[in-house]
Amino acid sequence: MCRVNAGAILAIAALAAGCETASAPERGPAYPFDLQNTGRVFRWRPVDLPIRYWLAAGSGPVVGYVQEGLRLWESQFLYGEFAGTLVTDSARADVLVMVNGGEPPDVPLTNDPPLDACSGVTSFPDITPANRFTGPLRVAINWNPLFGDADIANCVFRVTAHEIGHTLGLLGHSPNPADLMNALPRVAEPSSGDRVTVEMLYHTRPTIEPAERLQ
Ligand SMILES: [Zn+2]
Repeated sequence: MCRVNAGAILAIAALAAGCETASAPERGPAYPFDLQNTGRVFRWRPVDLPIRYWLAAGSGPVVGYVQEGLRLWESQFLYGEFAGTLVTDSARADVLVMVNGGEPPDVPLTNDPPLDACSGVTSFPDITPANRFTGPLRVAINWNPLFGDADIANCVFRVTAHEIGHTLGLLGHSPNPADLMNALPRVAEPSSGDRVTVEMLYHTRPTIEPAERLQ
C-alpha cells in the first residue's frame, strides 16, 4: 500500500513534546531506519534546516496535509532537530511532492482510516561514490476515485504524513501497526514508537549526505 521505491540505482525503498523542561526522551522499542539493512543512514543535518518541500500544481488539499505532516514530525523533537517548510521554486527544493490523478477531494478528515483508497511512494536519488545524493527526494501520492470522498481524504492525509516520515530518513517500515511508519499507516500521527525511532535517527551519524543545493 505504501512503499519506498527505487531510484535508478538505489532501491530504497503524537505526541507533541511541548516540554518546557529538558527531560530525557521517552524510551521504547525502535524499528530499523537504515537503508535496506545495510547500515547506511540518511538524515538531514542541522545546516540543512529547514528542509524545503515543493508541491506540484494541482495538489489541492495535499498542500495543507504536507504542512500538517511537517508540524507533526517537527513536534517529535525536543530540540528542533528537524524542520521543514514549503517553497515555490522546485529547483531549490530538497523534496518534490506530486499528486497523481488530479486534486483529491477536499473534505473534513475523520477517524475512520481506510487502507485501500490511496498509496504513496518515496523515491531516493542515486548516491555518488562520495556518498551524496544526486538530487532531491521525490514523493508521489496516488488516490483511487472509486472510494468515497472522506475515505480518500483520510487515506491521503495518513499516507502523506507517512511519506514525510520517509523523507526525514526513516528508510524502513515499522512492524507495529500502531506506528505511522507501518507499511499500512492506520494512524494519523507519529506514535511513541515513531518518536523514539526518529529521535534515535537524529542522534545517529549519517553515512549519506543530501544533494548539493543551488545557491
Ligand atoms: Zn512507506
